Amino acid sequence: MSKQIVVLLGPPGAGKGTLAVQLSERVELPHVSTGELFRSAVRNQTELGRQVGDVLSSGQLVPDEITNQIVRERLDAADCTNGALMDGYPRTVAQAVTLDQFAPVTAVLSLVIDDDEIVRRLSGRLTCPSCGAIYHSEHHPPAKLEVCDNCGADLAQRADDQPEAVAARLRVYHAQTEELERLFRERGVLREVDATAGPSEVLEESVALLAAVAPS
Ligand code: AMP
Repeated sequence: MSKQIVVLLGPPGAGKGTLAVQLSERVELPHVSTGELFRSAVRNQTELGRQVGDVLSSGQLVPDEITNQIVRERLDAADCTNGALMDGYPRTVAQAVTLDQFAPVTAVLSLVIDDDEIVRRLSGRLTCPSCGAIYHSEHHPPAKLEVCDNCGADLAQRADDQPEAVAARLRVYHAQTEELERLFRERGVLREVDATAGPSEVLEESVALLAAVAPS
């Protein structure tokens, strides 16, 4: 069976991470998040973490060569034999072209939401520096104020969720990633999902659209 490579597209704060975790279980594909691969490298102070730490805090993109290499290694792992659900990759046309060479994209879900709603959402987001869990001060608060439900570590606002970094990430997104949408739309593999709906509606719509684009 050929690999099923499903790409989630959408601006930062559209709910890609939350959807990816739930969708990954439903469609039985491992969730591959480049942002999380990079953040875990920074947390673990690996050589990669040292290389990308400053780029991550500034909200800019990690160079394509580094990113492509990380993804390639991840998709070679045994759990990705049937494919993967890609969250945050590809983000540029150059990355999409490279991905096509080793694992062609079979379906794309694009989360649609406007910039004002994103800024509102991201300014309340809290993450766990220890295990990577994500919370929101209004929509998904931890049981105990600013403490991770999973591991008990103190929660923090990601450096790249600060207002200036959010603005930079949105600029980068609009400048580079929208080109990708056009590319995938032209190929007929892209479907749009209304990301302003509640998480369970977004999930159900995504499962249904995916079944229609890439029947299993
Ligand atoms: P995310 O969690 O997807 O918002 O990613 C967080 C940060 O990781 C981004 O702002 C970039 O610095 C970096 N990053 C994640 N995915 C990529 C990618 N495909 N290409 C370049 N940089 C990336």
